[in-house]
Amino acid sequence: MVKPSVVLMGPPGAGKGTQASNVATEFGIEHIETGAVLRENKDMETSEGTPREYIEQGEYVPDSVMNELIEELLSGVDGFVLDGYPRTQSQVAKLDEITDLDVVLFLAVSEETLINRLSKRRVCANCGNTYHLEFQPPESPEECDGCGGELIQREDDSPEKIKTRLHEYMEKTESVIEEYRSRSSLVEIDGEQSPQEVWTDIQEAVHANVQ
Ligand code: AMP
Repeated sequence: MVKPSVVLMGPPGAGKGTQASNVATEFGIEHIETGAVLRENKDMETSEGTPREYIEQGEYVPDSVMNELIEELLSGVDGFVLDGYPRTQSQVAKLDEITDLDVVLFLAVSEETLINRLSKRRVCANCGNTYHLEFQPPESPEECDGCGGELIQREDDSPEKIKTRLHEYMEKTESVIEEYRSRSSLVEIDGEQSPQEVWTDIQEAVHANVQ
């Protein structure tokens, strides 16, 4: 099997990170997570200011910055799963220009579930492991089971920022889903299922779309 080129889409809190990481391991490809790259480089200077200003408000980083970044991240990469890009029509156009895709996966999750998942998400400040206080609780509420690092709430997981992020998604990214749907390259997956069931559906979809 050739190395697949996959886009994993879905609203914030849909479970993209977990599943993209499964895809990368299973198919031996790169996991490219734009949100994580931006968080690691929050203070880099760009023509539009620093990523921090946008991320902390729950707003999208401008397309000019994202499109330059994706070109860099994809250069020389053979097989990838994109997690968090493209999110706007301009980003779709950029991706069309630089690469071909095998499949676009869309994790569909209701707004109620998203709010619940995001508000109860905790992240290890040291290793990045994520937990959910109800469904995947850490042994101790303040400590990472894996490395003992401090568990924190992402700044943009506060109720107000969650609202802005979902608004950004609905305003700018829903049309991207429709664009891929109209090209027949979209596979919709029920993201309300258990992580294991979602993973089974994802594997099937990737195998069905890659020679
Ligand atoms: P995420 O971890 O995917 O929820 O991304 C966190 C934040 O990073 C988002 O709320 C945006 O501020 C920014 N971000 C990540 N990817 C993109 C993108 N493709 N376009 C614009 N902003 C992005």
